[in-house]
Amino acid sequence: MEHPENSSEYKGLSVQTGTLSPGSVNPYLNLSRPRRRRELTVDEYVEGILQGDVTVLSRAVTLLESTRREHEEMAQSVIERCLPYAGKSIRVGISGVPGAGKSTSIDEFGIHVLSQYGGKLAVLAIDPTSERSKGSILGDKTRMEKLSVHPKSFIRPSPSSGSLGGVARKTRETIILCEAAGYDKIFVETVGVGQSETACHSMVDFFLLIQVAGTGDELQGIKRGIMEMADGIAINKCDGDNVERCKIAASYYRNALHLFPLPPSGWAPRVTTYSGFYGLGIKELWDSIYEYVDFVKRNGYFEQRRREQNRYWMYETIEEQLRSHFFNRPDIEARLQGAEKSVALAQKTSFVAAQEVLDYYFKS
Ligand code: GDP
Repeated sequence: MEHPENSSEYKGLSVQTGTLSPGSVNPYLNLSRPRRRRELTVDEYVEGILQGDVTVLSRAVTLLESTRREHEEMAQSVIERCLPYAGKSIRVGISGVPGAGKSTSIDEFGIHVLSQYGGKLAVLAIDPTSERSKGSILGDKTRMEKLSVHPKSFIRPSPSSGSLGGVARKTRETIILCEAAGYDKIFVETVGVGQSETACHSMVDFFLLIQVAGTGDELQGIKRGIMEMADGIAINKCDGDNVERCKIAASYYRNALHLFPLPPSGWAPRVTTYSGFYGLGIKELWDSIYEYVDFVKRNGYFEQRRREQNRYWMYETIEEQLRSHFFNRPDIEARLQGAEKSVALAQKTSFVAAQEVLDYYFKS
């Protein structure tokens, strides 16, 4: 390039022609905004899922977790098309209080069932607190070190939107997608507090309750209803100097279970001890779960329970939709605020105030 300083009037000065500066230091750097991924069509979702494509499966689960109306509609079409291919799996619910050792155990359980029975495993979760904690602590891949890198496993944390009913419905729909993608073993992890266990129980074939040995007063913290739901109780951390305490705890639970009538499955729930951390007693526990599955498949209860669950979910969905339709209307919200005030000031009874809002809703 010609520099003005090189003209003859600047004697004794000469400027070398430099190199042109490149447009970018990194020629591979693409400064344009990253392109958004192309949305898939319903056909593409279904095809990918049926082929067992994990990326498409993950995207389909994200789609069904979306609260956007068009996504919801699309997700429903995908689910409907996948339904004929779903159902051929064993679904096991795994519940326990935080710290009981669920993640540690699921990691071991997963590796065990995959090596013993082959197939593919999906680990899902129901965590109603995940919206508040901004991200689920259940189904967290980092807490399942072996499974998270296993080629035959698919781990998905809890959906985090809305009510427990909504979270649970989405987990149930995810089960359908996973089954259509060829996952023949499904674990549903849930935290052992409150209603999430009922929701989990209503979508699995076997509900396993993980307990740890306490200070002797074993049954204090466990509610009767939850004991009744369990198809099996497994006492974890049966290792080191904890073995004796676990055995005592197991006999407490066995005695307590004897007091309940035989469940409709005809199967008397068993109490086992194991150590998820040291991998002890895992085979015995899973042999007993598979024995249960054989048993209920032969006596017809397996199918009966799934039919009842389908019915339950139909009503759950209706209730959930009605509730959200009602509570999401801004005019209803305004009226509810007014009604709340008059109830608080004792100007109206709860019943009258509720009736007025409902009358308005049904008339409009
Ligand atoms: P979660 O909250 O139910 O998922 O429980 P984690 O799997 O995170 O386990 C809670 C704690 O208990 C961790 O520190 C584990 O290392 C420990 N733990 C889990 N399983 C066992 C076990 O079988 N034996 C012993 N001694 N500790 C365990």
